[in-house]
Amino acid sequence: MDYHLLAERLFPHIHTTPEEIEARYPKRQLPEGAKVTRMGPSPTGFMHLGNLYGALVDERLAHQSGGVFYLRIEDTDKKREVEGGVQTIIEAFSSFGLPFDEGASLDGDNGVYGPYRQSQRAEIYQTFVKSLVQRGMAYPCFCTEEELAAAHAAQEANKENFGYYGKYAVWRDRPMEEIEAELNKGTPYVVRFRSEGSIENKVRHEDLVKGKMEVTENDQDVVILKSDGIPTYHFAHVVDDHLMGTTVVVRGEEWLATLPVHLQLFRAMGWKAPKYAHTAQLMKIDPETGGKRKLSKRKDPELALTFYAQEGYPVPAVLEYLMTLLNSNFEEWRRANPDAPMNDFPFSTKKMSGSGALFDIEKLRDVSKNVISRMDADTVYSYIADWSAANDPAFHALLTRDPARSKAYLAIGRGGKKPRKDLALWSDAKGYMDFMFDELFRPDYTMPERVPAEDARIILTDFAAVFDEDDTPDSFFEKMKQIASQHGYATDTKAYKADPSAYKGAVGDVSMVVRVAVAGRQNAPDLQTVMSIMGREKVLERLKKCADVL
Ligand code: GLU
Repeated sequence: MDYHLLAERLFPHIHTTPEEIEARYPKRQLPEGAKVTRMGPSPTGFMHLGNLYGALVDERLAHQSGGVFYLRIEDTDKKREVEGGVQTIIEAFSSFGLPFDEGASLDGDNGVYGPYRQSQRAEIYQTFVKSLVQRGMAYPCFCTEEELAAAHAAQEANKENFGYYGKYAVWRDRPMEEIEAELNKGTPYVVRFRSEGSIENKVRHEDLVKGKMEVTENDQDVVILKSDGIPTYHFAHVVDDHLMGTTVVVRGEEWLATLPVHLQLFRAMGWKAPKYAHTAQLMKIDPETGGKRKLSKRKDPELALTFYAQEGYPVPAVLEYLMTLLNSNFEEWRRANPDAPMNDFPFSTKKMSGSGALFDIEKLRDVSKNVISRMDADTVYSYIADWSAANDPAFHALLTRDPARSKAYLAIGRGGKKPRKDLALWSDAKGYMDFMFDELFRPDYTMPERVPAEDARIILTDFAAVFDEDDTPDSFFEKMKQIASQHGYATDTKAYKADPSAYKGAVGDVSMVVRVAVAGRQNAPDLQTVMSIMGREKVLERLKKCADVL
């Protein structure tokens, strides 16, 4: 067989050589140990949590080592591509603050290792495929879908392995005349890699996440170029990650099954394979069955990255929670370094679990509460303003009407050793501060059990007479005690508990009456601070309004 002739016949339009292509991609000049990682998402319009999970690993590995994190668009499957898919990818990652140093960007490409869209790299892939054909390492296969299905059925009946290998690799050694005849007829064909592997052999692999393992050698003649001249994932991965200088490939563990193909291709091309980190699947506990299962696009809205922005999960909380899933020692580090930026944490693939990571949205809410509780009021305010501008314009208008007043409210209970943890999501803000706005004030005047309505009315009137917006929480409480003792309530809870029959209730009941009148509910942050922010007039109005309806 004249392989050169075959290669010319298949790729008459390819005039570049592998050497010319290699020369376009010089070795990267990076410090010793610097890692080059990439995201290779497909522009399907749907970005999921798994993408972000992997991207965080990529980003940390690259930036922690002074390396490069780049974006490559894997758009070889035109059927799955949607309009605006690339933009969705870029915006999703930038909204999570994971900056790409290089790669596809909104206005073209950024970097010299491009093009970064696989659909623009046909000439490159075909150059390498042509060279494989010239060396007898790849060949055209004209099998139809029906023929492949028939082979599959025969394999099933004979209890043999599925696929294109051995006697089933029917185009592997066909004479040139037969190939020529099909080409003349215009029969569509794919190009397959000629595997020299055997399933009797094992290949050693050391995965950065899964550890040391042995995988079975690949004996299949896999498709490397599809009938439209576009490569399969396998071939594009090998060519691109080689040329673009990727040192660590982080990808989902579903790719482990075809790792032997990739290792084989790297060897056949004479290239050094990158290191691999195969990340575990994100799982959740199914609320109905109580069993563990993969997150599903159909059942779990939280799989979509857009969910987090819409619901108002703070970006740092989502990242921080993903980090707790990624590195088993992160939580311990966070406890020891409550105020350090997350990126100070020494991330390591060694601390990644090889088995499924359990995603728990309640845990995310907890992390989020902690993350928000450590922010200052200005930061919280601006996050809530941004979120509400996009998702709740009516609330946004109220929140931003008097920024200083909103910030003062959001500042309550912040900054101390035990900050308040009222907010898990930005969408919680409205419920937390609605009573501060007359437009949203829908009071529930349910009074503490031990206080009859006529007492509540008197307490409110008495308090209105002594209220001073300049009181401190302590001087306010002194006033509460005084009112309590005047009306038969204990001035401290201990005294009440020691002899409940001697009192109607305790001072806490009395201040609760004021809280209910002012906030329209029984839970609200520090009352005196709330009242100073509201101002004298508003407080007196609320006290009266409540007393009137009791
Ligand atoms: N395009 C592949 C995917 O979306 C990328 C896998 C990889 O990162 O190598 O699954």
